[in-house]
Amino acid sequence: MNRLFRPLIVLMVLAILPSQTLLADSTQRAVDSSSKLSERPLTATQCRPLRPLSELLERLPRPEDKEALRAAKARLEPMFRAEKSDTRHSYDVLHYEINMNIDIPGDSVRSAAVFIDCRSETDTLSVVDLNFLGMTIDSITVDGAAVSYDRQGDQLLVDLGATVSQGDSFQVAVYYHGRPQTPGGGLYISSNVTYTLCEPEGARNWFPCYDKPSDKATADISITVPDGYIVASNGLLVGVAKDDEAKTATYSWSETYPIATYLISLAISEYATFSYWYEGVGDTMEIACYAPPEDSANAAVDFSNLPEMIACYDGLFGTYPFIEEKYGMATISFGGGAMEHQTCTSWGFSITGNNTYDWVVAHELAHQWWGDWVSPDNWKEIWLNEGFATYSEALWMEYLYGGPGLRAYMSEMQDYYVRWETASGRSFPIYDPPSGYLFSPTEYDKAGSVLHMLRFVVGDSTFFDILRTYGANHAYGNAVTDDFKSVCEDLSGRDLDWFFQQWIYEPGFPRFSFAWNYEAEARAGYLVNISLVQQQNGPVFEMPVEIGITTGSGLVLDTVLVDEEAEQIQLTVQEQPLGVQLDPNEWLLCQKEEVQVTEPILVMDRYTIDDLDGDGWLNPGETADLIITLENQGTTACGITGILRTGDEQVTIVDSTANFEEIRFFQSGDNALTPFIFSVSSQASPHWAYFTLLVFAAGDYQETITFRLPVGVPTVLLVDDDGGGDEEAFYTGLLDSLNVLYDMVDMDKSGFLGRDLQAFEAVIWFTGLETANTLTPADQDSLAAFLDAGGNLLAAGSGLGNDIGASDFYGDYLHAVWSGETSSMLLQGVTGDPISDGQLMVILDQEGQQDHLSADGEAGTAACFNYIGDGAAAIRHEGAYKTLYFGYSLEYTRSDNPSAMTPHKLMSAILHWFGAVTPVESGDDPAVFLPRHFALDQNYPNPFNASTRISFHLDRAGPVELTIFNVAGQRVRTLAGGEYPAGRHLLLWDGRDDRGLQAASGIYFCRIRAGDRRSMVKMLLLR
Ligand SMILES: [Zn+2]
Repeated sequence: MNRLFRPLIVLMVLAILPSQTLLADSTQRAVDSSSKLSERPLTATQCRPLRPLSELLERLPRPEDKEALRAAKARLEPMFRAEKSDTRHSYDVLHYEINMNIDIPGDSVRSAAVFIDCRSETDTLSVVDLNFLGMTIDSITVDGAAVSYDRQGDQLLVDLGATVSQGDSFQVAVYYHGRPQTPGGGLYISSNVTYTLCEPEGARNWFPCYDKPSDKATADISITVPDGYIVASNGLLVGVAKDDEAKTATYSWSETYPIATYLISLAISEYATFSYWYEGVGDTMEIACYAPPEDSANAAVDFSNLPEMIACYDGLFGTYPFIEEKYGMATISFGGGAMEHQTCTSWGFSITGNNTYDWVVAHELAHQWWGDWVSPDNWKEIWLNEGFATYSEALWMEYLYGGPGLRAYMSEMQDYYVRWETASGRSFPIYDPPSGYLFSPTEYDKAGSVLHMLRFVVGDSTFFDILRTYGANHAYGNAVTDDFKSVCEDLSGRDLDWFFQQWIYEPGFPRFSFAWNYEAEARAGYLVNISLVQQQNGPVFEMPVEIGITTGSGLVLDTVLVDEEAEQIQLTVQEQPLGVQLDPNEWLLCQKEEVQVTEPILVMDRYTIDDLDGDGWLNPGETADLIITLENQGTTACGITGILRTGDEQVTIVDSTANFEEIRFFQSGDNALTPFIFSVSSQASPHWAYFTLLVFAAGDYQETITFRLPVGVPTVLLVDDDGGGDEEAFYTGLLDSLNVLYDMVDMDKSGFLGRDLQAFEAVIWFTGLETANTLTPADQDSLAAFLDAGGNLLAAGSGLGNDIGASDFYGDYLHAVWSGETSSMLLQGVTGDPISDGQLMVILDQEGQQDHLSADGEAGTAACFNYIGDGAAAIRHEGAYKTLYFGYSLEYTRSDNPSAMTPHKLMSAILHWFGAVTPVESGDDPAVFLPRHFALDQNYPNPFNASTRISFHLDRAGPVELTIFNVAGQRVRTLAGGEYPAGRHLLLWDGRDDRGLQAASGIYFCRIRAGDRRSMVKMLLLR
């Protein structure tokens, strides 16, 4: 296990080197130092000056051309009928002999005879299952004797007439004719150009075969065409036979290297031909080109780099795999694509005469190694073809333009993928792409970028050893991802499970935001503080990351291992830092953005109440220490002090001052040594007490932070049992607005933690949209005991009936009978019901998952809400205990219609009905308890990415203006303007300005004005 070392904080002195910097020798290295980009061509055979980078920059692939390269193949994928299975079949195809007379003017196959040499892989083989679709079969023989057969869809089942033993060979001959069909590829006949295009599984449309890439065979291909046409195909041309009487020519090709069925090809036209010659070691190989006569001069330019390209890849991957035969390029017309047919690429891009599509020429040539020499075992492994060919494009550019060329090409590839995934919203693992995405940027550009990162992790020399060894191990055969991974691990000597897991088997990429500053250290240079955050939804990525610090003498480079959502990195340099770059050499597939921070941003991270009985709740009469943890999201703040205030009449502050000392950039600090002390009146009722913390620091820094603390002991327990959803926000918002003190447990994270239900007057238990694992038997027992002791329960969830509708608890305590689900969304309260009293509610955004209920008939049980015209939606029971059960998720009820009952009024009525819960008052005013003063809370979350919540409290009604400003003082967004009632109000800022455009990363100020009072908080937006 030679895992990367990872100090939480990397503190090291770096050597400063000009331009391309190396790493200091004395430092332990996570990354092979040979991974620096080469400045020279990689192959030793070439020694010539690099071409100018500006030439490459003008020629980087255009997005529309990248799209075209994939689209030609992707068009065939919707017809992709095969399961992506890797199961073995019962026989092995050894050789295909395809004889076909094509009637080009007649748009049909005049006659065809295909001989398939097979070997049995079992002792009981009696039927051979081939793939063949369309055209008319005239007869089938096995070893010359006619046999019966059955066609089922694209299956062709040939009865062998006897049982063939394992290892025994036999030959199936299929004679057929007709007009080929081309759903999912096949043979396209036209007078201009006739060609085949079959990836992934369209070969069955033009010849019978076992149409899986795992069964490779050799092939002889003899095609008869009208005079004047030339047939290009796989392998070597062994003869052209003219028939003067029939005015035809028969081209006979022989492919003696194993070939997968999707790579067997024809390209037929009235071609002009020309050749290049590749001078290999001790051998000369033809590069045979076929192009329309009018394009052949330009084609000769476009394909002219092939000899040098083959030399380049020979050096990197191993000798060209089909060196005894040829390489070829045959133009066909399929509108922008190209296809890596073995030894004879089909070319559908336009001919330009100026090497515009050199990258595609390189891509298809590289496939001769990656796809043709080593073929995927099955289509889940498509990245072993396309990722490798796409990365090979970059290797060709590195050969031509050196390290800067590689960086430029990879940067474009990474950016292209990041843009595609961001715009399309399609994020899925490279391995086993979903249907319709076999030929997507994930398999091309992301997989290519992953190989580049692998090179970074294992180093140049190991990386190219890996490619050559992987190729040699699976030469002329097949491979799966694990084969490649095991070569990587063997040759690097490292466990690379983490790398393959996150990059191949899981989706996405890291989206980094970072900020930095520095401090001059006494006699020790400059300490650079870097805060790095991974902003993506989904798992945190683990990668070595290069960090470059620009100084007057050049770039200082170091590599750190990043593996946490938020990292603090410290580096020391000898000269004043001028800038920090993340991954300056473009190794990583990631999004990266620098956020400018210019001053301290102190926000409250959390509080701790240290009280007498140690329960963290402020009982009446108690005195407690209050420790506040501040987080600094900006530059270092020194000499921080705090003053605590409150307007709450039931709270007395005994010690109002505290010292937080110094909090550095993106660090936390607290006042544990100088806690605030306050006491609670012995007459205190349960409520939220509001506090203001004034924070001062050196340099005239001043900040006001408002927060609230619960006073008294909560009477309501909120049980978050939504299976990891975020339904709790609905309930906490309602309870907050009703000023009800509550305690909350998250069943998905912590369970009950031994909480005693009996300590609460009411339990609110919500299961959201969960339809399984809602209330466990243990949960039901706890609730039954709570209710037996006279408790009050509100239970809500659209899956409870489905999950526990048959349980004793459901009948005995919820008093409901479940009869399936309904899609009714309109709710009518029962007239005279103490909670619903005939009022209307509506369910939105949830379709057809509501539970259909009826009351069990026991005394004290009644429907509380009915679906309009469709039975009960909520059941209420009042006896020795009270239960109220909603067969739908309350959080999907909306209050958009002013004549309908709001969730707020509903919750108020429920708590009032429970009665024991104090102190809740009924009434239309949502603010049951008015805040005792005016306050603006710190936004949450902060820093934020997509959106942040801003809440404020008004102790009296009046005009409010709430505005977002940037650091330049410009107004960005007006969130509120108008009359607001007293109470707590919650606003959401989506990070957009008044025109709806996304605001840039950085510091923003949220300012509120209410009459003559004002307050402001600072927020940090990280994109
Ligand atoms: Zn490709």
